[in-house]
Amino acid sequence: MTREYLKKATRTAKSDASEVHQTVVNILTDIEASGDAKALEYAAKFDRYEGNVLLTAQEIEAAIASVPERLKADIRFAHDNVRRFAELQKATVANVETEISPGFIAGQKAIPVDAAGCYVPGGRYSHIASAIMTVTTAKVAGCKHITACSPPRPGVGVAPAIVYAAHICGADKILAMGGVQGVAAMTFGLFGLPKANILVGPGNQFVAEAKRILFGRVGIDMIAGPTDSLILADQSADPHIVATDLVSQAEHGYNSPVWLVTDDRALAEKVMDFVPGLINELPDLNRENATAAWRDYAEVILCADREEMAATSDEYAPEHLTVQAQDLDWWLERLSCYGSLFLGEETTVSYGDKAAGTNHVLPTSGAASYTGGLSVHKFMKIVTWQRATREGSRQVAEATARISRLEGMEGHARAADVRLAKYFPGENFD
Ligand code: NAD
Repeated sequence: MTREYLKKATRTAKSDASEVHQTVVNILTDIEASGDAKALEYAAKFDRYEGNVLLTAQEIEAAIASVPERLKADIRFAHDNVRRFAELQKATVANVETEISPGFIAGQKAIPVDAAGCYVPGGRYSHIASAIMTVTTAKVAGCKHITACSPPRPGVGVAPAIVYAAHICGADKILAMGGVQGVAAMTFGLFGLPKANILVGPGNQFVAEAKRILFGRVGIDMIAGPTDSLILADQSADPHIVATDLVSQAEHGYNSPVWLVTDDRALAEKVMDFVPGLINELPDLNRENATAAWRDYAEVILCADREEMAATSDEYAPEHLTVQAQDLDWWLERLSCYGSLFLGEETTVSYGDKAAGTNHVLPTSGAASYTGGLSVHKFMKIVTWQRATREGSRQVAEATARISRLEGMEGHARAADVRLAKYFPGENFD
């Protein structure tokens, strides 16, 4: 590789990880030992919230009544798109069976997990769309108990639009609790909630680390921590749009990396000129986030050609990958590591983040090298089954007995022998 860094990050998701780990272990251990009361203590400490945590029907109604009608219609529009896409995914999950040998049938079945815990981030922004992405997908998958959990604002509680979204998308319970304590409440079954079989949803580094630590005793969708985004752009790209798109993702948080990979030095320089001005035009909180993200985590990488650009992108395995370059079909065919791909200037990550229909809960920190984003499949267990006629089991039993004996597993061999002796009396199976 001949790539040249016109701008290099001083921090990465990996360099942040160890600071967070011990904090999260301590909180989880405390809450597991002491239950509801400890979770409430952490809610008071981190979110300065001391109100009711499990929303009542009246609280849900009151929150819904306060959401403007236009916003409700937009939320329903986004919900419809996400639901339709999730239904398409569900249609690809088939219950199948085959006669694997005469008289021996093996099959596969997809069973939705019972209880899903959906984390809806709400520290810096009110992530209405995360409620739509997680709850809708769990509902379409067929989960029986869906909890949505989101950090409350001091004196206000969960943002009313998040309550509305979680409610119409199918949440059975809404928990006003954020961060590690929210994740712990859904996992340990605090406040009368069913213990979650799977935890899904994005969140900050504390939420992502809590899910990572708990994985095993509870399922998780993936590591969906601080957002990252990469743009592949060639000389055909509009530098102002590229810069705007980079800034739009840097505003997520002070630790949200954005990367530009290009084979055009002039484009890179124009984009780098535009970015500071665009950041300065943002409102205060967004400007602070984007300034720090651009300063510490952003990179601009100059490559020799599009092949090197694609290889670089696959190495970074970004959560969001945008292509603003010629020959979109080539890129679609060539690229292989990303959470979600946005092809061409006519679409943008913001569309996928909010309303287009594809899921915005996506793998971060390189996890796109081994997994895709949230889908109905994450809520479904693909299990297998088998049955046989007596004659159909003969050959399998003989092979099982011989393999088992060679392995030294006499008990396994006898489970086959006893059947052969019963179904085919008088025959010799040595
Ligand atoms: P959040 O809801 O994830 O986190 C807020 C919680 O963090 C608080 O309730 C608090 O309990 C906890 N917390 C804050 N400081 C803490 C500390 N010092 N110690 C322990 N706990 C602490 O909301 P957020 O912070 O705004 O982060 C949202 C994140 O979600 C962003 O990083 C964004 O990039 C990410 N995101 C990711 C995706 C994805 O698909 N990967 C999608 C949307 C958002």
